[in-house]
Amino acid sequence: MREVKVLGIESTAHTLGFGIATSRGEILANINYTYRPREGGIHPREAAQHHSRVASEGVERVFRESGVRPGELDGIAFSIGPGMGPCLRVGATIARALAIRLGKPLLPVNHGVAHIEIGRLVLGCRDPVVLYVAGGNTLIAAYRDGRYRIFGETLDIAAGNCLDVFGIRAGIGPMPAPEVRAREGERFHPLPYKVKGMDASFSGLLTAALNLLSEGARLEDVCLSLTETVYSMLTETLERALAFTEKSEVMLVGGLARSRRLREMVEAMAELHGATVHVVPSEYAGDNGAMIAWTGVLQLLAGQEIPVEESRIRPRYRIDEAPAPWRERGL
Ligand code: MG
Repeated sequence: MREVKVLGIESTAHTLGFGIATSRGEILANINYTYRPREGGIHPREAAQHHSRVASEGVERVFRESGVRPGELDGIAFSIGPGMGPCLRVGATIARALAIRLGKPLLPVNHGVAHIEIGRLVLGCRDPVVLYVAGGNTLIAAYRDGRYRIFGETLDIAAGNCLDVFGIRAGIGPMPAPEVRAREGERFHPLPYKVKGMDASFSGLLTAALNLLSEGARLEDVCLSLTETVYSMLTETLERALAFTEKSEVMLVGGLARSRRLREMVEAMAELHGATVHVVPSEYAGDNGAMIAWTGVLQLLAGQEIPVEESRIRPRYRIDEAPAPWRERGL
């Protein structure tokens, strides 16, 4: 089979990323720019303005650092969703312009599927149960019959969002600050633990933790109580999905996969089921261009290109709406 090269563009939230991947599984470049709000959470329009400012530099760098010439590309992939509309539009606009200018296929990538596929690539997992945890997403997924099925998910806010918002409101900043402070915690305060089957709810927990803090509880103790509760809920729901699917690999992807404590808990749980645990390396844990490029390669090989007229962004695109036909071919 001829080797193909795809440029991938990520822009679902605070990161504008550019990557180039080949069908041999090589990542030739992975360049990411992250918008950091001066205070509070991500403001979608400000993030989009940040992305627009750094976009042309990013396009130039991805070619320079990869040594690939634009004409050598076989496709242009972009995150079509899910994500914040203004941010998604920046990446989609760049991708459409390049696809038209270079006369190359346009490949619409589901952001969550891309987190899973970059994990499978760099970790060598074949068929894992996946815990995808980040600031904007919390779900448990596994491949079955042509696509990634969602076995469990958050019923309200993302687990990462719960920890980030707590850290910001408590004045210590987002993750990893709450987890670092938790290491100095001594007292565990019970907090609402809400698991329903393989789903979990985090918003009541966030409110309760903030209340505890305003009632005068020690910050380190609240951090300990909150992180332990969040990670326990994630581990419990993941355990149900593992037992149900009877798979032998567990994979952690997304920004919260960087958590040392979450990893410890998941490893202890997986050991009881004889499953191996694989954690995505830090450079591919957060949103990045390489994961879109690699998933673009898989989609190009599976014939999933779309015409520019059908490339409208999909802010609520779920991973179980995205066909993954390359999996049947053993890719
Ligand atoms: Mg993400």
